[in-house]
Amino acid sequence: MTIAIGSSRAETREELSTTAFDLLVIGGGILGTSVTWMAAQAGLRVAMVDAGDFAGATSSASSKLVHGGLRYLQTGNVKLVAENHRERRALAADIAPHLVKPLTFLVPIYKGGPHGAAKLGAGVFLYSALSVFGDGMGKVITPHQALAKVPALRPEGLRAAAVYGDHQMNDSRVAVMTVRAAVDAGATVLNHAEVVGLRKTSGTVTGAELRDRLDGTEFGVSARLVLNATGPWVDHLRRMEDPDAAPSIRLSKGAHLVLRRHEPWKAALTTPIDKYRVSFAIPWEDHLLLGTTDEAYEGDPAAVSPTEADIAQILDEAGHAVRDEQLRREDITYAFAGLRVLPGGPGDVAAAKRETVVTRGSGGMLSVAGGKWTTYRHIGKHVFDTLARLPGRPLGDEIADILPVVPLPGLASPEAVAMRLWTDRERSARMDPLVARHLATHYGSIAFDLARLIREDPALGERIHPEGPDIWAQAVYARDHEWAATVDDVVRRRTTLTVRGLDTPEVRARIAALLGTG
Ligand SMILES: Cc1cc2nc3c(=O)[nH]c(=O)nc-3n(C[C@H](O)[C@H](O)[C@H](O)COP(=O)(O)OP(=O)(O)OC[C@H]3O[C@@H](n4cnc5c(N)ncnc54)[C@H](O)[C@@H]3O)c2cc1C
Repeated sequence: MTIAIGSSRAETREELSTTAFDLLVIGGGILGTSVTWMAAQAGLRVAMVDAGDFAGATSSASSKLVHGGLRYLQTGNVKLVAENHRERRALAADIAPHLVKPLTFLVPIYKGGPHGAAKLGAGVFLYSALSVFGDGMGKVITPHQALAKVPALRPEGLRAAAVYGDHQMNDSRVAVMTVRAAVDAGATVLNHAEVVGLRKTSGTVTGAELRDRLDGTEFGVSARLVLNATGPWVDHLRRMEDPDAAPSIRLSKGAHLVLRRHEPWKAALTTPIDKYRVSFAIPWEDHLLLGTTDEAYEGDPAAVSPTEADIAQILDEAGHAVRDEQLRREDITYAFAGLRVLPGGPGDVAAAKRETVVTRGSGGMLSVAGGKWTTYRHIGKHVFDTLARLPGRPLGDEIADILPVVPLPGLASPEAVAMRLWTDRERSARMDPLVARHLATHYGSIAFDLARLIREDPALGERIHPEGPDIWAQAVYARDHEWAATVDDVVRRRTTLTVRGLDTPEVRARIAALLGTG
């Protein structure tokens, strides 16, 4: 098996270096993946490479919300909220109902807080109106009602809570499913392959020079058009195109914590900290996700990580609304940080509008960065349309229309999948219902492929760590079908071991052996 993976990377490199592609996408975060998916659907020969793992940077460091963005109402950006809502509802209803789930949010209103009940009540009403009340009507509830939903809510000084609806996901899993959708549509992809230089023909960018980060192999890719979708690295790539390119973006760091949860939460909390900033406390993967910070960042994007000051700030801000018992340091299972890409220019980063920056350089390379996870299809379509209509039509005229709604692989009702996984086997050999639910909500109907692996080798049905729902079949599947090549690819992004704090040295060693890297 290990040899197969080694040779399949070599085969992919060979394909990348010998094919004349229409489009090379540099960066396999959600934006690059989205454009790759669209381009493949349109019938183009498209390649996508990432220096690290797919979604290994910003796209797995988000707040995991598929949301309209309540706080953008603060900056008056009603159009952005309505657009986000449309995409949120499309993802939850048509594209990925198996991976994106609804979640109720409470905005606790405390005595002396930055916003009063009347303003927040009007805010959540407008917010729900902008999604045509598809998730019910935003309203204000009593402290008693709020505490019934979130018993860990701090009761002292609580006046009321505003309620609204949004969705959440496991961002790494949705990203890998989107990569799979792109590959199913015909794209060629390779992770752990870094662009170290650009190819140019008469001053025009026509490809890239790459280095395989796993074994150091150097190779190149030729393409009619190159898209730079490297998120926080976007200006680094733009300088490869033109050493004098002026900065187009600035970065803001956002850190999060994951904590063990002591009781069920029926809703998440969006707690206003000041006029612009909020603190999220979100039930996620049976844990509690807290965040986030928002602070200008000028260092190396690869070095971004949560600091002790970030951890203290997140716990402190969560403490505005969450009881101390739920905020113990010993319950922290994981901390992570990512970088928001904001349009360049003056002003406080926390007040800057979250918009997408699209630029075209002197060598004809299009660069895209910023925007939201939630609107990845919308941004992908916009970028793809821009590429398709560039002066001189470098992609040609033979581009098929992209269907507006193509679901992600595994589309199925997670409840039905979980039930079938559970009942499909005789009583004595039934899958643990928790594991069945975990597989159904992270793979959709692809969970049946995992069940098949378990039928062939029952040991693959065992949990990787006794305290979490991830099983060995997932690690094997990640290696063989989801491009996982390093231990972190498996424990951090294909499964939930790291976020639960269960990637012990023993677990890591066993996974390294499975991948053939140990
Ligand atoms: C703290 C935080 C919270 C957020 N929360 C939410 C949320 O809850 N909901 C929401 O909708 N949005 C959220 N966002 C926004 C969302 O996460 C981003 O808009 C999205 O992930 C950006 O994706 P991307 O593909 O542009 O960038 P990235 O995911 O960073 O992808 C860029 C990729 O380029 C690769 N790369 C870089 N250099 C090279 C090179 N030389 N060669 C090859 N590859 C290279 C990197 O390895 C990386 O994988 C959040 C963002 C942050 C920072």
